[in-house]
Amino acid sequence: MSFSTLGLAPELLRAVASRGYTEPTPVQSQAIPLVLAGRDLLAGAQTGTGKTAAFVLPMLQRLSTSHDRELAAAGRPRIRALILTPTRELAIQVEESVRVYGGGRRRSTAIYGGVGFGGQVAALRRGAEIVVATPGRLLDHARQGTIDLRSVEILVLDEADRMLDMGFIRDIRSVLALLPDRRQNLLFSATFSREIRGLAEGLLNSPASVQATPRNTPTALVRQVAHPVDRSRKRELLSHLVRSHAVDQALVFTRTKHGANKLAQQLWADGIATATIHGNRSQPQRLRALSDFKAGRVTLLIATEVAARGLDIEQLPHVVNYELPMVPSDYVHRIGRTGRAGVEGDAISLVCVDETPLLRDIERLLGAPIPSLVVAGFEPDPSIRPEPVRLRSAGGAGHGAAGRHHHAPRSRGASSGAFGGSRRGGGQRVGRPRRHEIPGSSIGNQAGRWSSLPGERKHR
Ligand code: AMP
Repeated sequence: MSFSTLGLAPELLRAVASRGYTEPTPVQSQAIPLVLAGRDLLAGAQTGTGKTAAFVLPMLQRLSTSHDRELAAAGRPRIRALILTPTRELAIQVEESVRVYGGGRRRSTAIYGGVGFGGQVAALRRGAEIVVATPGRLLDHARQGTIDLRSVEILVLDEADRMLDMGFIRDIRSVLALLPDRRQNLLFSATFSREIRGLAEGLLNSPASVQATPRNTPTALVRQVAHPVDRSRKRELLSHLVRSHAVDQALVFTRTKHGANKLAQQLWADGIATATIHGNRSQPQRLRALSDFKAGRVTLLIATEVAARGLDIEQLPHVVNYELPMVPSDYVHRIGRTGRAGVEGDAISLVCVDETPLLRDIERLLGAPIPSLVVAGFEPDPSIRPEPVRLRSAGGAGHGAAGRHHHAPRSRGASSGAFGGSRRGGGQRVGRPRRHEIPGSSIGNQAGRWSSLPGERKHR
């Protein structure tokens, strides 16, 4: 399969070739002709599958019409394509792809929270045809009258599952109300909960659907295990797993930047070479950490959620969840980093009693239990009571500057399972458990070996 058979214009084929891509990824070969044909699209694809180019390339082509020249001649460009993303990091990354693939021919801008309005208002005033935005900040602009979305022709919801998990559904619906009725809609999501399906039903018009993550194969490639362990002994257990060669090289997820730093220091003290990748590390520091890891100079690469997104690490044998993510679909995204390209991988979760409810939520999303294995010598102390898992804001370490939205209250307290039956002192579950499901499961993916550190391409 070659890009030239997909119906893309010569300048886009040149852009693709200059990026060094020789053949389309599965989501690209499926999605591009459908989008070019003007279809609405429901796509199952996660980071690393090449999903960005799958919508950006055909979108750029559809914007290159004579109508477009008429519009441009009439004055400053109007917003013709809107891409919504859950986080500022992703907005920046996608907008960069628009610029790279568009060869500077299309004006684009990224709109996200956590920074001043001034620069964004100025960029919007100068005019942009393509806006990549997080929903909250976009609405703030709409309310202030600094953005006009009435000429949007193409809407893309990127990582829709994350947007919903982050509580953006109302914002998304408010944005939809600002768009013209006639438009093309593309929805990309790694997982498909009932909420996502509901959103898709209301949004998409006779959509074509594509699935970049082959059904069931990923679970077969990723061996998952949960090690119940006391919260105070997690670091010791991780060191033990490395020393006993149960883990050689691994990407280790912590919930916070502070947690990543602290763990790295402790592991160094244990004599294990580590590096960290998180929001407080500069781009050169991140690249250095990544190259040290790839070269084998570093055993454990400790990362927070967002920072680890799009990391270009092929054939990653192990992913360790030092702390479980607060949002179940993040688990799927995390472990999608292993078991790629037909290579088997392990996803190891160190689960303390506080996290049992999070584990249950993840298992509910997966539709299957994660095998639990107590490591000898690390049996959890049954007298330890669960402590509530501290909530973090969506704008925190995990999800970048998504703004004012907080995750729904999580259930807490103890439950059965990894800790072997109901535990004394366990509180009742509070809050409504989330119900998720994945059609055919999309953990990991065979198509997912194309990825890079966000921003890495600038350095290539
Ligand atoms: P995405 O899933 O959109 O985040 O893309 C992940 C990475 O794959 C990015 O670094 C892209 O530059 C890269 N990529 C996208 N399409 C291809 C392709 N056809 N061949 C090789 N790399 C690609």
